Amino acid sequence: MAVVHLVSLDYYNIDRQPHITVNSSFCPTCPHQACLVTCPAECYTKDPERGVQFSYEACLECGTCRVVCDRGAVTWDYPRGGFGVGFRLA
Ligand code: SF4
Ligand code: SF4
Repeated sequence: MAVVHLVSLDYYNIDRQPHITVNSSFCPTCPHQACLVTCPAECYTKDPERGVQFSYEACLECGTCRVVCDRGAVTWDYPRGGFGVGFRLA
């Protein structure tokens, strides 16, 4: 059974303090820009000038961008306690 059938969204409490930051100076020359196609929340979008635009607010805390960015552009952490996304078993 797919995970989506096992869990339900419980809360989404957005922190004003970003838990992920992206140094976009690496992005225009990134050969794969894998973050654009792997982030399930579409937090990464193509930007004609900076290569990639990032916004953390919809992040699902899956950690994918931390893994696929092999240029060290992504500084990743979990949100502070009480913030971010929460799931419960359906
Ligand atoms: S994978 Fe990393 S370096 Fe490449 S575009 Fe995404 S954030 Fe930038
Ligand atoms: S942790 Fe997952 S959901 Fe959050 S920005 Fe990275 S890839 Fe997207």
